[in-house]
Amino acid sequence: MIRTRFAPSPTGYLHVGGLRTALYSFLFAKKHHGKFILRIEDTDQTRLVPNATEKLINTLNWAGLICDEGPQNAGPFGPYVQSERLEIYQEYIQKLIDAGHAYYCFCSPERLELVRARKIAAKLPPAYDRTCRNLDASNINEKKARGEQFVVRMKIPLAGDFVFTDLIRGTVSINYKNIDDQVLLKSDGFPTYHLAVVVDDHFMQISHVIRGEEWLSSTPKHLLLYNYFGWQAPQFAHIPLLLNPDKSKLSKRQGDVAVEDYIKQGYTKEALINFIAFLGWNPGDTREIFSLEELIAEFSLERVGKSGAIFNTEKLRWLNHKWLTSYTPEKLRELVLPFLANKYPQANHLDPIILDQLLKLVQKDIVTLSDSTNLLAFYFEAPIDLNKNNFVNFKNLDQVINIIKTHLPLVDSMTFLPNVKHDIKQAQIHFSELFPVLRYALTGHCEGFGIQDLIDILGTKESNTRLNNFINIKPA
Ligand code: GLU
Repeated sequence: MIRTRFAPSPTGYLHVGGLRTALYSFLFAKKHHGKFILRIEDTDQTRLVPNATEKLINTLNWAGLICDEGPQNAGPFGPYVQSERLEIYQEYIQKLIDAGHAYYCFCSPERLELVRARKIAAKLPPAYDRTCRNLDASNINEKKARGEQFVVRMKIPLAGDFVFTDLIRGTVSINYKNIDDQVLLKSDGFPTYHLAVVVDDHFMQISHVIRGEEWLSSTPKHLLLYNYFGWQAPQFAHIPLLLNPDKSKLSKRQGDVAVEDYIKQGYTKEALINFIAFLGWNPGDTREIFSLEELIAEFSLERVGKSGAIFNTEKLRWLNHKWLTSYTPEKLRELVLPFLANKYPQANHLDPIILDQLLKLVQKDIVTLSDSTNLLAFYFEAPIDLNKNNFVNFKNLDQVINIIKTHLPLVDSMTFLPNVKHDIKQAQIHFSELFPVLRYALTGHCEGFGIQDLIDILGTKESNTRLNNFINIKPA
């Protein structure tokens, strides 16, 4: 049985890189009819954020990445929150100490800092100098009896290479001299990520660990721990880094990194998932639009590349636009309404037929859902501060206005425009001197929607008011 997991630390938001890890893990599990597990890695008690887990789960659910087992979805291998599993880690750290694979380290933070500084000055990797690695039992007992604080570190072999196979990167070889005697248990009694991740992946029967490339260098430590425990290790797939367009590591400084920010800006889940899927994976042909179901069918780790994936917001905007134009009127209405109502609460009470008409008008222009607010502002706000400055080059403005005037009040939305056009033609005036004027009167902009559409949507009464307001302003 394929079992994958997404194991985020609850930082208060879901990073777009996290969404990609979750997506690939989800797709791989679903493609193979396996299970997708969510585990919260909250062993760093200094970084706890209130409600972070709920927010994270809400965002994953929004994206459609529903876990089969997780904190809110109990399965047979729970609890799925690391801070609720401390006893398990205690038991397994003890086993490592007893077997001689891990040791107590009583070095103070000040001493460690000194060692670090000395190593950096000597241009060596800033690793621990292993002072406590060979303390004898009586020494350890004495220190413990004195109440000295300690951590537990794992013993890394002193020489040789650790070689393993990564499903994406192939054979990876890391020399032991580049691996520190990793702390496994902190002085507060909490395990570090490295111990907890191995114990949990083992007991949760994870078959494939799919995670970001930044964890590649930790994998030898994890695989050594599997060896020390005598457990079979899962397979590993490290997915490439996400990069800014300038190829630097994706950072907050260059744009948003929280999925929640993209939701707020009005990207839809289909577009975001489609976009995120392509950050490292491709189907091997030119197809670009994929639903979650299509991704499940097509996804494979073989088609995930090794090189960094550029987070190109222009591509995301393009995909969002594509997806928006593909939605049914009902779906579009449902998606747009919260954005629209945020600025124009009256939108909540609009007749759905009108709303659909409005959306039909702007569907081809909406890139993000939040654009709808600006695009449809004309409907909710009559133009103000009208003037005729825009039309100083219109030779026949007075005549055009006179013709419009003769057809006011507008009583019949069907005949008004044809009648005006008829007279304009008679007067041998080009329509390019008519339409901008009407559009400006109706919306405050010279360019944009078709006049008949505007009249239909605004209705006779409102169109009349707006046309009169324009006609009655003083000449430029
Ligand atoms: N808790 C780690 C993180 O926040 C998970 C790494 C892993 O998947 O092993 O990214």
